[in-house]
Amino acid sequence: MEEVDILIIGAGVVGLAVGKEVAKDNRRVIILERNNSFGRETSSRNSEVIHGGMYYPAGTLKARLCVRGRRLLRELCEKYRIPHRWTGKVIVAVDEMERSALEGLYALGCANGVEDLAMLDAAGLKKVEPNVRGLCALHSPCTGIIDSHKLMAFLLRSARDNGAMVAFDAEAVAIEKIKNGYSISVRNGNDVSKIEARVVVNSAGLDSDMVAGMAGIDVDKDGYRLHYCKGQYFRVNGAKSRMVGGLVYPVPRPKAVGLGIHATVDLAGSLRLGPDDEYMKERVKDYSVDSMRAGKFCGSIKAIMPFIEHEDIVADTSGIRPKLQEAGGEFRDFVIKDESERGLPGFVNLIGIESPGLTASPAIAEYVGDMAERILC
Ligand SMILES: Cc1cc2nc3c(=O)[nH]c(=O)nc-3n(C[C@H](O)[C@H](O)[C@H](O)COP(=O)(O)OP(=O)(O)OC[C@H]3O[C@@H](n4cnc5c(N)ncnc54)[C@H](O)[C@@H]3O)c2cc1C
Repeated sequence: MEEVDILIIGAGVVGLAVGKEVAKDNRRVIILERNNSFGRETSSRNSEVIHGGMYYPAGTLKARLCVRGRRLLRELCEKYRIPHRWTGKVIVAVDEMERSALEGLYALGCANGVEDLAMLDAAGLKKVEPNVRGLCALHSPCTGIIDSHKLMAFLLRSARDNGAMVAFDAEAVAIEKIKNGYSISVRNGNDVSKIEARVVVNSAGLDSDMVAGMAGIDVDKDGYRLHYCKGQYFRVNGAKSRMVGGLVYPVPRPKAVGLGIHATVDLAGSLRLGPDDEYMKERVKDYSVDSMRAGKFCGSIKAIMPFIEHEDIVADTSGIRPKLQEAGGEFRDFVIKDESERGLPGFVNLIGIESPGLTASPAIAEYVGDMAERILC
């Protein structure tokens, strides 16, 4: 029977960042991943935006870890040459009602510690994005994009260099509380083996509620049930993809679950629209993209990017948000918690790690690292 100090379930960007962090203290660490490689789920199906942090209620983990994570990512990207670009972003208002919502976002961003935010009038917006139309805009120069695959490859290498083991095709299928920690049953093909760990970090993304359930938590009673909310993307063809320089967002609708269909550039210079947001009726990982939505995407973005026509866009990819917030429900923060009060000391749940989880990943790792150290000391 293998024994470790810390066992991490999931090798998405968050599990890998946590692995890198906790392995550096000479702890025995293993990361389990059910797929045959890292980052095959949400971490490779997102917009790759390094968010500023102006959308989340002040004081929440989403706000704090986004701002801290962005600063840590900047250091990592510069030091280890992880491909990224500070494209900047504009959130564009088209009428007076949106202007007042934008002023609210500006105030929230300042309260959250987002640097260099500026309100632009129509002429200021034209200078930053000449082809975008609007009454005014909120400009965030410290927002950017990153190559998420290269980031994860770097985190995997660093976790291994720090001494962590990473097991692919290794699915956690049962968790039992034992005297000094947990016994985790791990399926690899037809074999099932057991690993004992003093600390378990549940970083299982879309299935993190199921993993919490394996440890005996009542996910419905404790408010940990995840709801899948799909986001689809369309790609802009040809020369039109060069008509914006950075990231262009609408003002989010009140109580919206996503940020509204927006335009993001990638490091290769191509432009995508999306993601939209739709709660899924069934809990399935269906990543198909409905090409019939082109009209809806076009209609939605035209108010701020009038040059986009139906024939300019083609169906691209999709991702699924692991949301704690139900359809029509209130804002829910990340859950990052040692479950001592539920009788599970050393069982650390990371649930509902939707956007800005990619941006926040190094800060989540730092937060979990401190928690694990306190548990193990
Ligand atoms: C459409 C969309 C757009 C987004 N855009 C952005 C963005 O621009 N910027 C940003 O900051 N964030 C963005 N996000 C959020 C970001 O992608 C996620 O927060 C982040 O990828 C979550 O990483 P993770 O490691 O928690 O989860 P995942 O990447 O889902 O990793 C979890 C891993 O756990 C594994 N696993 C699950 N169960 C088990 C088990 N029992 N045993 C072993 N392994 C298991 C899975 O196979 C998976 O690899 C977006 C998300 C979506 C859906």
